[in-house]
Amino acid sequence: TAGRDVTVREERVETRDGKEIEVAANIGTTAEIDGAIGQGADGVGLFRTEFLFLDRESPPDEDEQFETYVDALEAFPEGRVVVRTLDIGGDKPIPYLELPEEENPFLGDRGIRRSLGDDAHLFESQLRALLRAAGATDGTLSVMFPLVATVDELTAALDEVDRVAEDLADEGTEYAVPELGVMVETPAAVMMAEEFAERVDFLSIGTNDLAQYVMAADRENDAVAHLHNPQQPAVLRAIRRSVEAAHEHGAWIGMCGEMAGDPASTELLVGLGLDELSMSAVTVPAVKANITEIDSTDAAAVADQALTAATKQHVTDTIDQ
Ligand code: PEP
Ligand code: MG
Repeated sequence: TAGRDVTVREERVETRDGKEIEVAANIGTTAEIDGAIGQGADGVGLFRTEFLFLDRESPPDEDEQFETYVDALEAFPEGRVVVRTLDIGGDKPIPYLELPEEENPFLGDRGIRRSLGDDAHLFESQLRALLRAAGATDGTLSVMFPLVATVDELTAALDEVDRVAEDLADEGTEYAVPELGVMVETPAAVMMAEEFAERVDFLSIGTNDLAQYVMAADRENDAVAHLHNPQQPAVLRAIRRSVEAAHEHGAWIGMCGEMAGDPASTELLVGLGLDELSMSAVTVPAVKANITEIDSTDAAAVADQALTAATKQHVTDTIDQ
């Protein structure tokens, strides 16, 4: 398996020519933090908070979430912790939320859509917990929104952060506004990446959903797995476009989908210009080891070559060379 026999590097890593790439872990619960630290993760690049809401009878309240986020921040005093706001939809059952039955749940009421709609009360308590946690520790908290497709959604989410901050200030509750970001998971987000990057601090590419929506191929359907593949040229071009938009507008950009943890893709991703890669903890050592062996000029050439490919096979051949 990936990561076997590879030395764990606790320190941050850079390419041979000195470009630092942040290598972070994806977690679902604080129980995974020790494992992430053990594998040398620099921080958390995706905290999937829906796991805090699953397998229980009622949602975690503000104080319970506050404790959880503080624990995560204190575990990485030097690193960044990127928390994604609740990302659920018709495909993940949470009995107490009474999610609608939908014909196409992946195209339905999920992600930020629910947070701005039926789950607005949960969004508010989660943001309160997050802003309080940012104020209560010295750690670096970043908060990002899932499945954003329009500037209006982003504006509404950012307005809600402002409103929550005002409430906390009025109450005299300690808080800080974290770094804010958008997940790039829809073709719409790729096309609007400039506008998003102007409005937030960072973008993070979710290749699992991005590949699903760019390729119109269900991420859970093996029959279309060849299409649902981040090495499809169409997906690569979407990644490149997002990176350029982010950097043009002074935002940093990471990747937290499965592709980020594929050691065979590390050089390509560094070449595409990603600043951060976040993955399941077990692949952190192998990806860190790869980064230390990469020359970023060579990597850029690999990426340019891969971007000329007309087929997935050509992309795979290019990165395997
Ligand atoms: C993604 O879509 O790539 C992602 C990281 O989010 P999730 O897998 O939780 O949908
Ligand atoms: Mg996703």
